[in-house]
Amino acid sequence: MKYAFFKGKIVPFSDAKIGIMTHAFNYGTGVFEGIRGYWNSEKKQIFILKLREHYERFQRSTNLALKTDLKYSFEELESFTLELARKNDYKEDIYIRPIYYKSQEKIGLGLIGIDDDFCMYVAPFGAYLDVAKGIKVCVSRWWRISAQSIPQGAKITGTYINSSLAKAEALEKGYDEAILLSHEKTVAEGSGENLFLIKDGRLITPPLSETILPGITRMCVMELARNELGLETIERQVQQKELYEADELFFCGTGAQISPIISVDDKNIKDGRVGLITKKLQDIYFEIAKGDNPKYSDWLTPVY
Ligand code: PMP
Repeated sequence: MKYAFFKGKIVPFSDAKIGIMTHAFNYGTGVFEGIRGYWNSEKKQIFILKLREHYERFQRSTNLALKTDLKYSFEELESFTLELARKNDYKEDIYIRPIYYKSQEKIGLGLIGIDDDFCMYVAPFGAYLDVAKGIKVCVSRWWRISAQSIPQGAKITGTYINSSLAKAEALEKGYDEAILLSHEKTVAEGSGENLFLIKDGRLITPPLSETILPGITRMCVMELARNELGLETIERQVQQKELYEADELFFCGTGAQISPIISVDDKNIKDGRVGLITKKLQDIYFEIAKGDNPKYSDWLTPVY
């Protein structure tokens, strides 16, 4: 990490520091995004995936969770992102992390009248989960935080204690990742990714009413399944036992990309190998993300 965007401008990464009394650091009053850029070595280009969609969710998060408006337009945020990515000059896959946060050094709750600010960094970032071999997951004892506790659809820093506890539980028990149930004890999502299952040729995913994060990759998967495989996605509540009986199961997210799940709570999904439909979706997704599928070039923003 060579440079960051901090207090209105690009600065050396080591200069982008906040004080220990910062409201967001004390109370989790920040919202953020995780955006991927894919390096294409032949084209000598980094393609950022779904840049505008991420900033649209960022704006919703800011309005809902911080009770304020972004101080920059989408055009400004996109131009800062491209400028920062260029300045860092990576020749590999990157991860972009914009954060809007309550920046005032102040003791006391309440969001109103507390100063906020924007910052962003860019880091090299490879695979987050094993997309080739698939991953082993458990159903967490932690429930996904409900819409009665946090605004639905917002990606809030403080909420990630819920995700982190579930992920820690999974790692402690020797799994790669955790699935969280909702307060109704139906399936919600992974600690940092949405979940799809395939049963008898049908693609099924929990609805937004499960207080899942409205994933951008989730939308991409639905679109690709429809356009490229002729498969409609059914959004409905999923019972825990359906996980064990699925033909195929996968996570999707910006970090997770499309990650096949090969077992849940030590029970193999079918034969415990990556499913065919999952593999097809993965192949198309990576082809698009790398900038090798012109049909979906409008999903991408080139950096250089
Ligand atoms: N759920 C949670 C809790 C997440 O943190 C993420 C990652 N942002 C996702 C789902 C997937 O969202 P997206 O596809 O927009 O990255």
